[in-house]
Amino acid sequence: MIIKNFSATGFRNIEKCDVTFTPGLNLLHGKNAQGKTNALEGIYIFSRGKSFRAREDGELVGFGKEGFHIRIDYEDKTGEGSLEYSLFGKERQRKRNGYKLKGVSEMLGSFRSVLFYPDNLEIVKGGPEERRSFLNVAISQCYPSYLKCYSDYKKALENRNCLFKFLAKGLYVDKTEIDSWSYSMADYASYIYLMRAEYIKRLAPHAEKILSEISGGAEKIQLVYDSDIEEDIADREAVREEYFKLLLENRDRECAAGVSLFGPHRDDLKIKISGLDSRLYASQGQQRSVVLALKLAEGEVIREMTGEYPVYLFDDVLSELDQRRREYVLSALGDRQIIITSCESEEYERYGANIIEVSGGEYVSAHR
Ligand code: ATP
Ligand code: MG
Repeated sequence: MIIKNFSATGFRNIEKCDVTFTPGLNLLHGKNAQGKTNALEGIYIFSRGKSFRAREDGELVGFGKEGFHIRIDYEDKTGEGSLEYSLFGKERQRKRNGYKLKGVSEMLGSFRSVLFYPDNLEIVKGGPEERRSFLNVAISQCYPSYLKCYSDYKKALENRNCLFKFLAKGLYVDKTEIDSWSYSMADYASYIYLMRAEYIKRLAPHAEKILSEISGGAEKIQLVYDSDIEEDIADREAVREEYFKLLLENRDRECAAGVSLFGPHRDDLKIKISGLDSRLYASQGQQRSVVLALKLAEGEVIREMTGEYPVYLFDDVLSELDQRRREYVLSALGDRQIIITSCESEEYERYGANIIEVSGGEYVSAHR
């Protein structure tokens, strides 16, 4: 699929813009602090449901503005579409093709893109929450219902933890109430587990092939889903039973600990390179290659599941790759749509990029 246009008012440092993209390689080019990442951030909101770097949407409102409005026009194999998102005061509105949407889950799954930005190195270097977040965002684009289920799971988890806190304060808590939250948790957990297990199975062969290509066959990546479910179970009811059993059996231990010790909120995705845990042993160059392989693999899974490649958004990362890997990316992605940001333009000119000059929140295409 491709994005044809991005327009915004009152968003970050963008007073008003209307940016047109071409199907192949697009470059947002400009000095530091001009609005390159701001544009990618606005676009990616439509894939992820929220900003990848703001803690809350209020930060996105331009200084001194009352609110913002952003819109993308895209095209996929079914035709053209548009998505809009605005925030004025407490009033939040999402629209698809001009029609109001009820919530963020309804917005997901229409415009699919893969974002790769410097902080993504945390997927390899950081704690398990970074990898869970990578899985959650990637899966939500393929299965929009996943996000709703995950947030329902988190609510059940919070309620159960709340009861543990009451107990710790010496308040009376009916144990059947804890078990009833355990049942809800187990139910949502079973769906999350199956989605994650399936997703990792799909992702792994692509990541392996891509990393092998990037490293000239030297490196082999292995992705292992680390969850509380030890055997590979494919039946939802059986998984639900397993989780419920775990929560019942460990209820008193969890009461003493004051938190829920089991469930998908503690999952991890183990990333091994040639048998070694990449978090502990990968060099910086290897970490970069692994994240690149995961991101490109994410695009392949989207293609597999939806029949179309997503839009690739690369924020500042290509310039950090060495020449060989940069060429690998640009040639591997070939005719797909890529939007990259960079302070340099020379190399991308050679690739025939559509160059958009970014300055003070204004975007001017060199072709106009
Ligand atoms: P770099 O090359 O350094 O990554 P960039 O072009 O990607 O730069 P952006 O991250 O897009 O820069 O930010 C551009 C400017 O937007 C920054 O100067 C920042 O202060 C400003 N900015 C951020 N949030 C807001 C906001 N809510 N209102 C107005 N300006 C903002
Ligand atoms: Mg930037």
